Amino acid sequence: MVKSSNNNYGCEFVQKRYTYLFMSLIVIAVLCATAIVYKKQPPVPAVALLAPQSPAVAGIFPAPDKTSYQMRLRLDVSNNILYGTTLLKTQNTCGNKLDELWFTAYPNCLQKSDTTPAPQEAYFAGFNPGWLRFNHVKVNGQEVQFFEKGVSIQVKTASAIAAGDDIQVEIIWQAKIPRLKYRFGSNNTVYMLGNFYPALNVLTKDGWLNSYNSVFGDPFCFQTAYYAVSLNIPNAYNMVATGRTVSRTTEDDGRDTYLIEARDARDFSLLVMYDYTEIKQEIKGVTVKCYFPGQHTEVAQKVLRKSGQILSYYASRFGSYPYEEFKVAFVPMQGFHGMEYCGLIFLREDFLQQGYEPERSEFILAHEIAHQWWYGMVGNDQLREPWLDEGLANWSAYKYLQEIEGKQIPSGLEYRNGMDLGKEMRDIFSSQEYYRTAYTGGESFWFGLEKELGNDRVIKVLRRYLADYKNKIATTQDLMDIIKMEAGQDMSEYIYKWFPPKP
Ligand SMILES: [Zn+2]
Repeated sequence: MVKSSNNNYGCEFVQKRYTYLFMSLIVIAVLCATAIVYKKQPPVPAVALLAPQSPAVAGIFPAPDKTSYQMRLRLDVSNNILYGTTLLKTQNTCGNKLDELWFTAYPNCLQKSDTTPAPQEAYFAGFNPGWLRFNHVKVNGQEVQFFEKGVSIQVKTASAIAAGDDIQVEIIWQAKIPRLKYRFGSNNTVYMLGNFYPALNVLTKDGWLNSYNSVFGDPFCFQTAYYAVSLNIPNAYNMVATGRTVSRTTEDDGRDTYLIEARDARDFSLLVMYDYTEIKQEIKGVTVKCYFPGQHTEVAQKVLRKSGQILSYYASRFGSYPYEEFKVAFVPMQGFHGMEYCGLIFLREDFLQQGYEPERSEFILAHEIAHQWWYGMVGNDQLREPWLDEGLANWSAYKYLQEIEGKQIPSGLEYRNGMDLGKEMRDIFSSQEYYRTAYTGGESFWFGLEKELGNDRVIKVLRRYLADYKNKIATTQDLMDIIKMEAGQDMSEYIYKWFPPKP
């Protein structure tokens, strides 16, 4: 993300009917299943689209290619409630038996006015709570207990799950969407649904990488997975989501059901909006789409064109963009200039005003798009090593501005005494310090490395980083190992100064 000190956004939709591509048994089966689920409780029926299978990687849990989320969502716009059922399939690949599972329930950080990370100006109608609650959870067919602990929810299994065994978790949940201009919230006609669903946390040999509430940063760490999502919304609304829309079916109750599929997705995010316009363009095999409110076609066209240019630049430098579509949506959001999700970014709608952040808008766009590589494809623990994705997103954006736009890079991007890139979010006590560490510190590390090794070698480091850790989670140590390998010289001294030993 790119944080902002203050501010905010929103779009007309060229009512375009999706061709009924898959008006076949798949859709009928899914709709029947949806009806059953909303009338009764689970079991959540199988969606016809299945995750690809391959051998498990011992030690990585959840293993990306063994994990699928099948979600059924129904948005109640009168009460701002999203009703969800999740069928999560994975396998115990951690190498040991498992007697608990931990989930991130991000909306729970918005429950109370004194602990919400959203800035006050985002509550346009006064404080309004958001939350995510589990109603029922079953693990491998057995009803189990669960315990809400802030933004994390612990699920106890009825009996230990042996290493190598399949795991099937069924969750009936609901999320209250606050009236809030934020990455999770709504302004009544636009629903920004980032991190809205229960997401399985990552288990390493050192334990669970659970999330915690932080007023700054993106407190997330997830493995990629396969998603098949059925979304039911009033038909006056439209939607934008991670992945690709397989079908849209008009129901006889004034609602539409979309079937959406996403492969190798780090997260699944969603925007449901009224009266937006969609424009799109095919650029080197990727369909780039832009969604905006109001009469802002000129700015949106420019953003669409630039987005394609930026995607092509990163693809040529680091490695190809892996999805069929990339989407940019302008939304009412305070506290961030932009927010990255898999295959989709949110930008605050203020961008649509001519002259908004004239010096910074291209940088912000390039930063958010760079997260498709650094966060999306190569994952990292954004709580414990936020410098990894934020530093690289900043450096990548500057390289784009310099090499394609011919812009000058700001001076002073170099090591300064006291920098410590190894700080985790909970050891950082202000957003200024966070920005100084993850963003300024992170980009300076890369500019410094370019001075040491030259640009060609740094690009080789990054190509290898992507190739080795695509659809995985990389750590600082992993990256340092690659730098040492590719440098052809001793890098200990250089690395040491950015990561001073802990007292
Ligand atoms: Zn960022």
